[in-house]
Amino acid sequence: MAGEPQADCLFCKIVSREIPATIVRESDTTVAFRDINPQAPTHVLVIPRVHYADAGTLAAAEPGIAADVLREAAAVAAGDRVDGTGYRVVFNTGVGAGQTVFHAHAHVLGGRGLEWPPG
Ligand code: 5GP
Ligand code: ZN
Repeated sequence: MAGEPQADCLFCKIVSREIPATIVRESDTTVAFRDINPQAPTHVLVIPRVHYADAGTLAAAEPGIAADVLREAAAVAAGDRVDGTGYRVVFNTGVGAGQTVFHAHAHVLGGRGLEWPPG
């Protein structure tokens, strides 16, 4: 069923604690944890507890939870004190854009200069 945990999904296993992660924030609908291969001093992933393949699919099915992900991303930035200098929220969508884990997730990047446009 839509949103149900997927047995082969890495991020569903982080939600269920089968795989450990450095969790920085949690809400009823989201989990935020540090990326295992950080690309900036702050690099946190915010994921919905429910499984959808990407951010657009999540937003179409569960707009309230998509909003929760965005609000939690801002809270992560404030918690790491990168909100003052600026931070970036990225949703890689599709293999061609670099998506490797097909459970919707926001990357929150900050704590260094961020080029625009990104590569
Ligand atoms: P994507 O490439 O799909 O946009 O982002 C997936 C992210 O998940 C990558 O930045 C990658 O470093 C991170 N990642 C992959 N496996 C793990 C893991 O087991 N733990 C954590 N904390 N991050 C992971
Ligand atoms: Zn999943």
